[in-house]
This record gives sequence, structure tokens and C-alpha cells, in this order.
Amino acid sequence: MSVLFGVALIVIAAAFWNYRSRTKKTIDQLSVRVEAEKRNVRELAVLNDISSLLYKDLDEMSTIETIVDKSKDLIKAEASALLLLKDNKVAGLYTSIGNMPDLMDQPAGIFSRVMSEGMPLRLSGLKDKEDLPWLKGLTDSQSLSIRNLLIVPLILRDEIIGEIALINRTGGGEFTDDDEDLLLTLGFHSSFALEKARMHQEAMKLATTDGLTGLNNHRTFQERLEVEIARSKRFDHKLSLLMIDIDYFKKFNDNYGHCVGDEVLRRVACLLAESTRNIDFAARYGGEEFVLILPETTNEGAILTAERIRGAIAKRKMSIDGKDLSVTVSIGAASFPEDATDREMLIERADNALYSAKKSGRNRVVAYKDIVADY
Ligand code: GH3
Ligand code: MG
Ligand code: MG
Repeated sequence: MSVLFGVALIVIAAAFWNYRSRTKKTIDQLSVRVEAEKRNVRELAVLNDISSLLYKDLDEMSTIETIVDKSKDLIKAEASALLLLKDNKVAGLYTSIGNMPDLMDQPAGIFSRVMSEGMPLRLSGLKDKEDLPWLKGLTDSQSLSIRNLLIVPLILRDEIIGEIALINRTGGGEFTDDDEDLLLTLGFHSSFALEKARMHQEAMKLATTDGLTGLNNHRTFQERLEVEIARSKRFDHKLSLLMIDIDYFKKFNDNYGHCVGDEVLRRVACLLAESTRNIDFAARYGGEEFVLILPETTNEGAILTAERIRGAIAKRKMSIDGKDLSVTVSIGAASFPEDATDREMLIERADNALYSAKKSGRNRVVAYKDIVADY
């Protein structure tokens, strides 16, 4: 009887033990799943934040910065890099640890592998022998040794437009399947965000530049002059405006044809852009007229610049259609605040000076203050 009881007790204890360990296992499995779900939710929230940030941003450079910064934060990595490609050539490499000075035209090393295969690449236990041309130089200079890498291609309508690379998973482990999936999702959003920023940039360029010469257009000039005058007032700086008009251009067109005339306009525009400082602003005012805003420039300084430009244009032989051609320009100069109190007045005064330069023989520079003095 007692033996039977003993056996029963053992059986019950074994069943209980079995039940307890099965329950514990289930609880452990559930905890792992809860932790994984928590991580998923966290990652999705971060991903959501990043994608809304990406889609909101219209500027290409800040879109690039967001991708570089956030990819590293989303999947905890020590460093990140974004390689941009255009027509299968390297258009830029941006990293969270500094920029590479000299880039080769063609994607090199593992970047070319990702590009040709169009598939993500995960490498671990990396040694010096690995083919990591740009990253190696960069990480060496930062005393960061590359242990593992995760690279995904950025694909837009079947074309690879770039690659995101993560260097060293924080905490020492290897990059996982989940990391790869997450980075691919981020890459998907990044491709569209980059395209949107590029399209915005191109639209802005079209809206602000003159189609024939590539200089700023009339509207952009008016806006910029307003801004520069406000700045001059605020900082109590001088500002000058040059109005430049090609002499006898109608006759030139009649003699050589409109296409040759167009080419001359392009060359003059190029010369203007070349002979100005970074802070100057050259625009096509319309027809064969150009304007040049010279911030922080006195009337005397503006006359010197105008003379230099006039001389350079008169001297320049333009070889077009097998002919050596040249043109001259007349330039009117006016300055703020001595000649005018606002934008419209400054333009009018520069135009008056230009008219005077035309009347007095062309191929010359006239300052508004000199025509006033003559009255
Ligand atoms: P002036 O010395 O008094 O400035 O004489 P001009 O002949 O240059 O001036 P006018 O205003 O009489 O003629 C301007 C000419 O500029 C007429 C037009 O054929 C030419 N022109 C204006 N825009 C363009 C253009 O986009 N392309 C070409 N080829 N010619 C243009
Ligand atoms: Mg003219
Ligand atoms: Mg004109």
C-alpha cells in the first residue's frame, strides 16, 4: 500500500516537474517574443519618424545627412556611409565620420560588388585584406577598425542610385537578418526621398535660372537685390549695381545670325560669371542686358570692376562658326545708399547711367553720380 502510495507520489511529482519545466519554457519563449515585438515596435516607431523626416525635407543635402545619421541610429552601428551613384558613376560619398577627399569615378571594392549584384551584403570578422578602398582610408584616420559591415543598395525603378553602409554593430555582435531587413526598408524610403529632393532642386534651378545663359533670371535678380539692400541697411554697408548692355547687338544678329548671337550671349554670361567674386550676383536682365549686384562695394570699387569687365569683353576673341568675333558692352553703375533709397530707384539710376554710356559713344562705363554732376 505504502509502496503504491510512494510510486503515485513519484509519478505526480514527475508530472508536476514536467509541467513546471514546460510552463517555464513557454514563459521563456513568450518573453523572448515579447522582447522581439517590443524591439519591432521601437524600430518601427524610429523608422516612421525617419521616413516622415525624409519626406518632409526638400533639400538634398539635409536629406543626405538624415540618411547618414538616422541609419546609424536605427540599427545601432559605430559609423555609417552613403554612396551616391549617377549613371553608374560615383556622385558622392557621405559618412558619419568625415568626407573622403578623392573619390574614384567608378564604385570600387565591395561597393562595386553590391552595385553589380544589386543585393545586400553582410560581412563579419573583417581583416585588413578586405577590399574596402574608401572606408579603409577613412576609418584608419579615425582609428576605427572595421569588424563587420552591412551594405544595402538603394534601388529606384530598377536602377541602383546608391548604397548605405553600416560599420560595426554597436556592442560587438554581428549584423542580423532583422538589421538587414530594417536597413532595406530605410533604403526604400531613402531612395524616394533622394529622388524627391533632386527633383525639387532641379525645379528650383529651372525656376531661378535663365535657359539660354544659365545665369540667374530676372525674377531671381529682383528678389536678390531686395535682400541685398536690406542687408546693406542692416549692416550699414555699401552696395553697387552694374547694368551691362551689349553694343549694337541688333546689327550683330543681322550680320551673323541669331544662333551666333545666342552663342555670344552665352560667352558674355560665362565671362561675367568668371570675373566676379563669390558674393557677387550676376543675372540676365533680359535680351542682351545683364546685371551684376556687388554687395559690400563702394561706387569706386564698382567702377573698377565694371572697367575690368568692359575691357575683358572688348579684348575677348570669340571663335564661333570658324569666325573670330568680338563685341563691346556699355555699363551703367549706381550705388546704394548714395544714389538711391530703394531697389527700384537703384535699378533706374543704373539704367540712367547705362543710357548715358550709350549716348556718349558706347564701350564705356558711366557712374550715375557723374551724370548728375554734369547737369
Ligand atoms: P545698343 O548699342 O543701343 O544697345 O544697340 P542694340 O542693337 O544692342 O540694342 P537694341 O535694343 O536696338 O537691340 C537689342 C538686340 O538684342 C535686338 C535683338 O535682336 C537682340 N537680342 C535680344 N535678345 C536676344 C537673344 O536672346 N538672342 C539673340 N541672338 N539676340 C537677342
Ligand atoms: Mg544693346
Ligand atoms: Mg538693350
